[in-house]
Order: sequence, then structure tokens, then C-alpha cells
Amino acid sequence: MQALPRDIGWVEVVCGPMFSGKTSELIRRIERCVYARQRVEIFKPSIDDRYAELEIVSHSQMRLTAKPVGTAAEILERAEKDSEVVGIDEAQFFSEELVGAVQELAARGKRVIIAGLDQDFRGEPFEPMPQLMAIAEFVSKQLAICMVCGNPAGRSQRLVGGTSQVVLGAAEAYEARCRRCHSTEDLPMSQQVSLF
Ligand code: ADP
Ligand code: MG
Ligand code: ZN
Repeated sequence: MQALPRDIGWVEVVCGPMFSGKTSELIRRIERCVYARQRVEIFKPSIDDRYAELEIVSHSQMRLTAKPVGTAAEILERAEKDSEVVGIDEAQFFSEELVGAVQELAARGKRVIIAGLDQDFRGEPFEPMPQLMAIAEFVSKQLAICMVCGNPAGRSQRLVGGTSQVVLGAAEAYEARCRRCHSTEDLPMSQQVSLF
């Protein structure tokens, strides 16, 4: 990343597939702000209760306190007037309304750091991430390691359950794959397990 702007708000996006270290990177950036004695807050979609309701947790068990919210509008309502840095994890679970909310937070002078999946399990762009990447000052694309061949992995392979774009889960439901090893073919019914 280049030198950080001063005295204005801006937007950072950290994207990539599952297990690429998005949440770890979000936590790392926020922790540095805490050391700099900045006022920080983190939001996450309340739909994502996989690990802890009031925290964001990485797959390597790093964790920070977070406020669960139902909608992007709620982020705007609940954002502290004097916070300097706003983190948002799992941004792909919010609607396109998040784009306007993020613009508003940056207009209020805040540094907004967004982490989210840039592609769904089919390898299709996962809204609203493409729009957020377009409006951001800084975009970091992270890669995981393909669990089949060891190459850099940009995609999330769903291992179980159905064709809905959202199926919550971690290692039991998804693994990182490169484009060669990633498959979008339907899974046999016997492998389909509901994770809700
Ligand atoms: P994300 O938020 O992108 O899903 P996390 O920050 O929660 O990622 O977790 C990243 C961690 O996941 C890595 O530090 C590593 O310990 C673990 N991990 C599990 N599977 C993989 C993989 N296939 N490639 C890279 N890291 C993996
Ligand atoms: Mg994550
Ligand atoms: Zn591969």
C-alpha cells in the first residue's frame, strides 16, 4: 500500500477467496490503528454467526470485537460520530446499499476497511464487492493455496449443499481451489447437507 491519506476519509478493500486471509488482514490493519490510539469499530452481517456473535474471528483464531448488523443502513445509523476507522467483514453478505453507506462513511472523514469474497462458489463476481472495489482508493487481492494442487487459489470450492449463492460454512463446506481445480458441476444429492 502507498502512503496513507491524511485528514480525509478513504476506502480500502481486502478481497479474495475463503481462507485467503481477508479477516486476518482486516484484524491486522485494525490492530495497528488501536496501537495508534485511533477510535475503531467493526461491523459484520448478523447472518454470519459461524464462530461468535460479537466478534470477527479468522480461520487461524485471531479475533476482535464486532457489532452485528442486519443491513448496511444500520451501519450508518450505528457508526459512532467520533470513530476514525470503520472495519466491515464479510461485506458480500450486504446488499448494494452498502456502496452508498461506505461512501457516506468516507465522506464523514472515516477510514473504511472492507473485507469480503470477490467471487461466489461458481466463480462469479459477488455483489456488492465489484462496486466497492471500483470506488475504493486501495484494493488488495489475496490468494489462498489450492487444496488439490498447491497453486495460488482465487476461488472457493463448495463441497456440500445446493445451488443457493449463500451457504454458510467453513472448512467442512468449502475449500480454496485454483481455476484449474475449481469445479462448478452440481454435487450429487447424497453430498448435500443443510448448514442452516
Ligand atoms: P478469510 O477471511 O479470507 O477466509 P482468514 O483470515 O479467516 O481468511 O484465515 C486465513 C487462514 O486460513 C490462514 O492463515 C491459514 O491458517 C488458514 N488456511 C486454511 N486453509 C488454507 C488454504 N487453503 N490456503 C491458505 N490458508 C489456509
Ligand atoms: Mg473471513
Ligand atoms: Zn489447483
